Amino acid sequence: MYDNKPNSLLRHIPPVDEVLKNPVIASLAKSAPRPLMLQAIRDTITQLREELTAGRLLVQPELQPRDFFMSLIVQRALDHARSQNRPNLRQVINATGVVLHTNLGRAVLGESARQAINNATSGYTNLEMDLATGKRGSRYAPVEQLLAQLTGAEAALVVNNNAAAVLLTLSTLARGREVIVSRGQLVEIGGSFRIPEVMAQSGSRLVEVGTTNKTYPTDYQRAITPETALLLHVHTSNYRIVGFTRETSIAELVELGQANKLPVISDLGSGSLIDLSVCGLPSEPTVQQVVKEGADVVTFSGDKLLGGPQAGIIVGQKVYIERMKKNPLTRAVRIDKFTVAALEATLREYIDPQTVWQHIPTLDMLAADINILKQRAESLAEKLTASVGGRALCTPVQTSSAVGGGAVPTTGLPSWGVEVAPRDITVFELAGKLREEEPAVIGRLQDDKLLMDVRTILPGQESALVKVLGGVLKGGASS
Ligand SMILES: *Cc1c(COP(=O)(O)O)cnc(C)c1O
Repeated sequence: MYDNKPNSLLRHIPPVDEVLKNPVIASLAKSAPRPLMLQAIRDTITQLREELTAGRLLVQPELQPRDFFMSLIVQRALDHARSQNRPNLRQVINATGVVLHTNLGRAVLGESARQAINNATSGYTNLEMDLATGKRGSRYAPVEQLLAQLTGAEAALVVNNNAAAVLLTLSTLARGREVIVSRGQLVEIGGSFRIPEVMAQSGSRLVEVGTTNKTYPTDYQRAITPETALLLHVHTSNYRIVGFTRETSIAELVELGQANKLPVISDLGSGSLIDLSVCGLPSEPTVQQVVKEGADVVTFSGDKLLGGPQAGIIVGQKVYIERMKKNPLTRAVRIDKFTVAALEATLREYIDPQTVWQHIPTLDMLAADINILKQRAESLAEKLTASVGGRALCTPVQTSSAVGGGAVPTTGLPSWGVEVAPRDITVFELAGKLREEEPAVIGRLQDDKLLMDVRTILPGQESALVKVLGGVLKGGASS
């Protein structure tokens, strides 16, 4: 027998270098870098001493304390080192049905964009060299021409994101002067982008006109003074004002702008290049339409409905774009070669309006045929049922997907999914376990069930989903 008082047990805890020599640790040395493993062992030993001193750890009397400690340290240190060694940015199966999910990285890039990123990053590129002359070129050149061609605008510039696009536009064209905006359009996008705050940051002064639900051209007209720099129209991306309403249209603003020699700026937010009403979505003006109506500058995101990389796209009249290019802020918010590569490839897909629907995953998901979604849900429910071995009820159900990314907030897209009702654990526990898996699975909690909308589950992810769900329910339920 040994003395099992906590303080005398402490001396049986093996030292770090002995743990390192343990065959299990040694054989798994490759699964985590040595400094991580070392730290994990140190942390585990410290933790063990604390638990022992506090009387929170009971040594099993049938084991030698040294063996007991060794196997405990090895197990805990391995778990710890593995979890520390796991990348924080991981693959996720998006079963929420929200196509542009900001928390899940918004647009999924198409094959050509992924290849372009791969090409641009596996060696050197002509990012800022004109290969025809051998002289210095512009990193924006490959996308400028495409954007002009696709939108009908004279010139274009691309920055880090649409928030930066709006900031740069206002800072260049309205610093120290007034910008007129309707009270119905003072939007907040995702908490950190608020029109009044962006305006303050740009050094321009906000002049609010009209009311929340009604703003007439005369409201803008009355607010114009020699201090006015421009008229700003902001797309009310993530909300709708319904009922007794009147918005001043871009065309009306353009008329006012021309009469008063003021530029009209449109922050379109999502900014689609194609009419999405064929997917059953409400008809929204495309970028080309807003350009055609005479907006002088239009800004929109690269990773919303366009389906490309994160970027803020600015198209419009050359005089204004040229001034923006000279603003030192442009250098601070410039895009990198990954973005240039992915955006060029994404935009090239739009040259053919027939094939673009299949080549841009965002469009492909939005346009998914309801009968195919139904078939996919039925087949997935069958496979899940077989995989979970009675531990959950998996039923195909009708549901509704959302565009997301602050686009068309009030319209759902009819869809299909699989409802999972676990038998032995709560639906919250199930959702938590699925988030820990690789790939992580994110569904939608609904009526005490976990709903998996098939619209946003990418082709080829279904078998991984079936495996993960089966593993989680069969592995976790019986213990
Ligand atoms: C989404 C959005 C923004 C912000 O765009 P990011 O690309 O996320 O920076 C700005 N304005 C409007 C109207 C938007 O919808």
